[in-house]
Amino acid sequence: MGRIAILDRIEHEHEHENRDAEYEKKQHRSESHVLLQRNPAMVMPASRESFQGGVFHASIPGGRSGATLSIARGELIADTISEPSLRFSIPLNQCQIDLGGASNRMVFCRTKEGDLTIFCEEKNFAKELDFQSGGMLAGPLKQLKKGLAADANRFRFWLTLSAVACALLLFVGYFGVLWTAKIAIRALPVSVDEKIGTMAFSGMEMGRKLEANHPASRLVQEIVDKLKPHASIPELKFKVTVVEDKDINAFALPGGQIVVFTGLIKEAKSAEQIAGVLAHEMSHATLRHGIERVSQSLGIVAAIQIMVGDVGGLVALGAQVAQTSILTSYSRAAETEADLEGARMLNAAKIDPKAMADFFEMLKEKMGDLPDAMAWISTHPQHETRVQSIQNHQKKLPVVQYEPLQLDLKAAQDAL
Ligand SMILES: [Zn+2]
Repeated sequence: MGRIAILDRIEHEHEHENRDAEYEKKQHRSESHVLLQRNPAMVMPASRESFQGGVFHASIPGGRSGATLSIARGELIADTISEPSLRFSIPLNQCQIDLGGASNRMVFCRTKEGDLTIFCEEKNFAKELDFQSGGMLAGPLKQLKKGLAADANRFRFWLTLSAVACALLLFVGYFGVLWTAKIAIRALPVSVDEKIGTMAFSGMEMGRKLEANHPASRLVQEIVDKLKPHASIPELKFKVTVVEDKDINAFALPGGQIVVFTGLIKEAKSAEQIAGVLAHEMSHATLRHGIERVSQSLGIVAAIQIMVGDVGGLVALGAQVAQTSILTSYSRAAETEADLEGARMLNAAKIDPKAMADFFEMLKEKMGDLPDAMAWISTHPQHETRVQSIQNHQKKLPVVQYEPLQLDLKAAQDAL
């Protein structure tokens, strides 16, 4: 059975050769081979691979057909997928290589006359063609490779460009949102500051709060009342609380909540020095440093909350931030701002701003004795430059007749 099959094939191959010769004669084409193949299963492609491609030829109904390509015995062979299958071939040494299709990936092999074209878009086709042609087609194929490399480069270029553009967009978007958040937070009414301050205050662990009628509380309240009319945000409700604590400390929460430690009142040399600290802390509130700090810490979260109108959520988160970060420190720029605005308020209230600078000097001297109790100075560093900047600023302020505070500091200190 096997033997018969082989013989049959040999016979068929002879038949092909004969037909081939006949066809050539008929067509007067020596360069290209076009042969009719009735039984393609009998043809054994000699190339290691076959490729899916196509053929253009006038003899094909419609002028073109898909084909299975192979390379054998120095020829590019195409067996059309049409029924009946037609076989076309072009000797490799007569192949006119052209590139085409989208991004030049398609390889066209044409006869010199251009009447027969076999084409393929498969990746390894050019490689196989190059290999089988023994370098004959190296030149045109090299061009193809170059084209592909250029494509890859172009692709890489656009990929890089898109990546850069995306990164840039993200960058701009992120900072744009942050910038918007900063403006949006600034645009929020101070009642939001007050809510954050009140919530932060109620959640903070502090020493015993002195009664409002305690001499120390009354002294501090009277100073605040004297400074209040000169605050840059008149509607801000300052609320001052004196807390039992040996630390020399005072701080302001957003919205005008101010906490003064008994340690600070005890160590102050004059009511004016306390006024200096209070003016500084009140300025943090009027300059809205607290809520600015909140927006810095919450960043994008704050922006999103404002955008979706979730002020309640912002207040809750802001209170947390206020409790933790505001007590540690503001930025140096914020501190300078509070110093200068404080000096302005003191000057307007006819209190010598020098008292604020004096307080810094006093703390500096005390540093050696009470390093642990220097909470305020630790969050307010750079006192030499600050004293200097307060003094310089004072020269620019309107000249006023300073009036000493008619307050009994001694009595307040004795009551502690
Ligand atoms: Zn400060």
